[in-house]
This record gives sequence, structure tokens and C-alpha cells, in this order.
Amino acid sequence: MKYTSTRNNKISINASEAILKGLSEDGGLFVPIEYPDIYNSLNDIKEMNYTDLSTFILKYFIPEFTETEIHNCAINAYKNNFNCTNCVEVRNFNDISFLELFHGPTLAFKDMALTIMPHFMNQSKETCKFSSDIAILTATSGDTGKAALEGFKNIDGIKIAVFFPENGVSEIQKLQMRTQTGNNVYVSGIYGNFDDAQNAVKTIFSDRNYNKYLNSSGTYLSSANSINLGRLLPQIIYYIYSYAELLRKNIINCGEKINFVVPTGNFGDILAGYYAKKMGLPINKLICASNDNNVLYDFFNTGIYDKNRDLILTESPSMDILISSNLERLLFDIYDGDSEKVSDLINSLYSNGKYSIPEYIQKKLNCFKAEYADSSDVKKSIYDVYAKYGYVIDTHTAVAYSCYQKYIKNSNDDTKAIILSTASPYKFASSVVSALGYNPSKNEFDDIDLISKISNSEIPESIQKLKTADIIHKDIYSKHNIKDAVSKFLDIRNGGDLI
Ligand SMILES: *Cc1c(COP(=O)(O)O)cnc(C)c1O
Repeated sequence: MKYTSTRNNKISINASEAILKGLSEDGGLFVPIEYPDIYNSLNDIKEMNYTDLSTFILKYFIPEFTETEIHNCAINAYKNNFNCTNCVEVRNFNDISFLELFHGPTLAFKDMALTIMPHFMNQSKETCKFSSDIAILTATSGDTGKAALEGFKNIDGIKIAVFFPENGVSEIQKLQMRTQTGNNVYVSGIYGNFDDAQNAVKTIFSDRNYNKYLNSSGTYLSSANSINLGRLLPQIIYYIYSYAELLRKNIINCGEKINFVVPTGNFGDILAGYYAKKMGLPINKLICASNDNNVLYDFFNTGIYDKNRDLILTESPSMDILISSNLERLLFDIYDGDSEKVSDLINSLYSNGKYSIPEYIQKKLNCFKAEYADSSDVKKSIYDVYAKYGYVIDTHTAVAYSCYQKYIKNSNDDTKAIILSTASPYKFASSVVSALGYNPSKNEFDDIDLISKISNSEIPESIQKLKTADIIHKDIYSKHNIKDAVSKFLDIRNGGDLI
């Protein structure tokens, strides 16, 4: 199994190298050049728990790791970090199932990949005989930062610094990050919004002298961004696991096709579903659900990707994105690996803010359907799902539910479907209680108590602990001084300015 770049198909490298590199030098994303076929193994898969299934799938994709090494990565990630035995829960109601991907340490689906990726990185260092330390730098709009901190904390040979916009994350998210424990972590606010934080981090990555200086002192910078192959591969697993779960519960017959509905932002989650389909998992449609930032809805319906519009801040903030980076991997696939063509499209995206694909290529997107939901759709969905099933969903899952209702209405498709539930309602408590018809409190912990009462479920321990946790990280930097913060954290005097 080798990987190539979406912008230069002559490249051929191993998974472990791709995981350490993150991005290809040409700016492209790493993609597999072939896919294993699991269709004939579905009956065996039915018998596997989450860790064993992870090992079974990942060994095809990272063959240079031994089976024991892969199994150890999976055990370290999935054995004790989740509050249910098999990492995910599938909730079945008579006409719909929800795949709950929020049982990890930070209560959002990013934990599914970010709990295992640090172990891939460490193993990759060993396999590639890479002896320098790695420093992960991440700007976050909320969910990724906390999930990365939890995943990378206390991992030898890797340090992690997370910068969040002082004015751009929820109080709970801020508290989650400022109370982060671990002997290799650093967290700071940045004055400004997400773009300010993101740009500040980008300047460090592109500062050649500073990077040279860091390298000479034995540290390499890397990121935990969702374009890293190490985040994509683990997401394939839960599509297969949830299919097996429907088999175990006799809801479907082996080989029967099902639909998946995916709340989408950067296109990483749904792309993993597409890869699962390429591997023979019986999938009929992948329904791409967007919020008001409906760039992907337009793309799938017209063949034109156009980011020339204002970003709308919604109550499903993890989907507030205008450039869905992982879509580049899908383009590479539908253009049959023509990396020149993909480069042209991406160049056009960066120079004109848009590109379009011809009709014969668009036809290859047949297995995708796209819908979008606005803020009143989201509120109504949270309310309706509670009224119909007594089940409380978060705002991102509500986008998917609403889109699924629109899809059924437009298509009359009665294929059984799974909605990917990407965050716990406890994480977006005030939006959820307000959708359910209550007045949100000034103190988010009151709303959290209310959700517990309404849904008759226990408040997750990670939220419970926040109430009394010590604030460990108090820094707030200006975006111009973030290099000082990084140098101080890495304990490097003069921050490279001497060179
Ligand atoms: C990141 C995120 C998404 C979007 O996933 P992508 O892989 O970026 O498409 C959806 N919901 C939640 C809660 C998220 O954190």
C-alpha cells in the first residue's frame, strides 16, 4: 500500500511517512493508490469488537506497522478513553438509526481520530527512524484543539501547543482548554477571531529561518489538521462498525445497501464514508448535510464550487467552513488520479475563489446527495426528534436530521439510513435547551443540568469535572507575539531571531 499526492501523482510513499509529513511538498494531500476489498469479510467483521476491527482495517492501510504495533495503537486509543465499551453507540428507532460518535474525552467525533493519531505518529517516528521531537501547533475554533490536546497529552517525544481565538469559542470550550492537564501541553488565547489565530499559526509554519532554527535544535513542527492521513484512516472504521451493528441487530441482511447522512464541514468525515464504499461496504447514498454555509450543496447540485460569499456564523460552528479541504481528495478520485487537473482546479480556487467540473465528471458523484439546513430547520429538528423519539440531539446532528428529511421528501428513497451524530448535546447546551422551548440560562452549567433532566441521562464526567477544575493556562497573546509563546514553550532562547 502506497500513497501519492493529489497534486503530483508521481509521488509514492508509505503511510508512516505521510503521517509524519502531513501535507505533501507540492501542497497536495496524500491519498491511497488502491483500496482493500472487505465485502467478502462482512460476516467475519460482524464478530469483531471495535479495537479488533480497527486493527483489521488499519493493517491494510499501514502495512509497514506490524499487526501488534497497530493493535497497540488501537488499544491505547480505544480501550480506556471512551465512556462505552465499543467507542461508539448505535441508537435505533423504527425508521432511523443514529451513530453516536461523541463518547470520547471531548464529546465530539474528532476524538475518534485524535485519540489514535498520536500513537500512529509515535510509531511512525520509530518505523521511519525519525529521532527529532515533534511539536504540534494548532489553531482551533473549538473542537479540534481540545481533542488534539487530549490525544497528544503525555506522549513522549511530542509536544502540543493550541491557540484559540479569545472571542471565538464557547465558554465551555474555553474552560475545556484552559484546564488541560499533561506534561507536554501549552494553551493560549489569541486576541481576535479564528482567522487571527489561524493566520498567527500559519506565519510560524511558513517562517523558514525559525523552522531551520528549530530543526537544528532537534524539533520539527507538525499539525493535527484534518488533512493528515492519520486522521482520515480511523474514520473509515466506524462506518464499517455501524454497518456490522445493524447486521448484529438483524435490522439489515448481509449485503443490503444503506444510506449514511453526514453533517459536513471540512469533508473529512464523509470522505471516509466514500472510502468505505470503495472498499465494498454496501452503501447506497452518502448524504452530505451542510448548514447555512452551503458551498457543498451548491457544488453537488451544480458542479460549481464557489467560496465567494460571507461566512455565516451558525449554532453548528464546527461546520462553519467555506473551503472544505478534503474535497480535494474526492476530486483526485473522480478525475482518476489526474493530479494536473486537480492542481488546476485548486489553483483556480485560490486565485478566483471558484472552479467548476464538467458534466461527465459530475456524473461520477452519483452516490452523493446534498442538502442544507438553516437555523430554524435546526431548531425544529431538535424539537421534532425529542417529540418523536424522546431523544436529545445536538445542533450538528440536527443539521443532518433536517437534511435527511428533505432528502426523503425529494427522493422517496426508503433505504435504511444511519445519521452520524457528531457531538453530544451537552456540548451545545444552551442552543439545545432553547430549541426545546426553554429559556437558556446565563450559566451554561444550568442548561447542562436541564439537559440531563430532559434526556434522563447522566452528565458526562468530562463536563462534570470542568466545574471544579483548576485553570492551568491563563495566557493571552497578541497574534504578533505568538512566536514568543512557542519559543518559551519549546524552551528555545531568542526564538531564532539570532539567525
Ligand atoms: C468537525 C465536525 C464536523 C464536520 O466534520 P468534517 O470532517 O470537517 O466534515 C461536524 N460536526 C462536529 C461536531 C464536528 O466537530
